Amino acid sequence: MEVGCKVCGSVTRITKAHKDYTRLARKPNTPYICDKCGAWIQFQMQNQQGLRKTP
Ligand SMILES: [Zn+2]
Repeated sequence: MEVGCKVCGSVTRITKAHKDYTRLARKPNTPYICDKCGAWIQFQMQNQQGLRKTP
């Protein structure tokens, strides 16, 4: 199954082994975010949390 990343738009081919495969197979309209963008978003969120902690 091929899915397009909602953030960068790159098309990724995922197999049944992929963690999001079942979700996307059942609900194809739900957004998919590739590993690269997922890691980037997580990094940004951690940065924001870090900024909040530091006065
Ligand atoms: Zn992406």
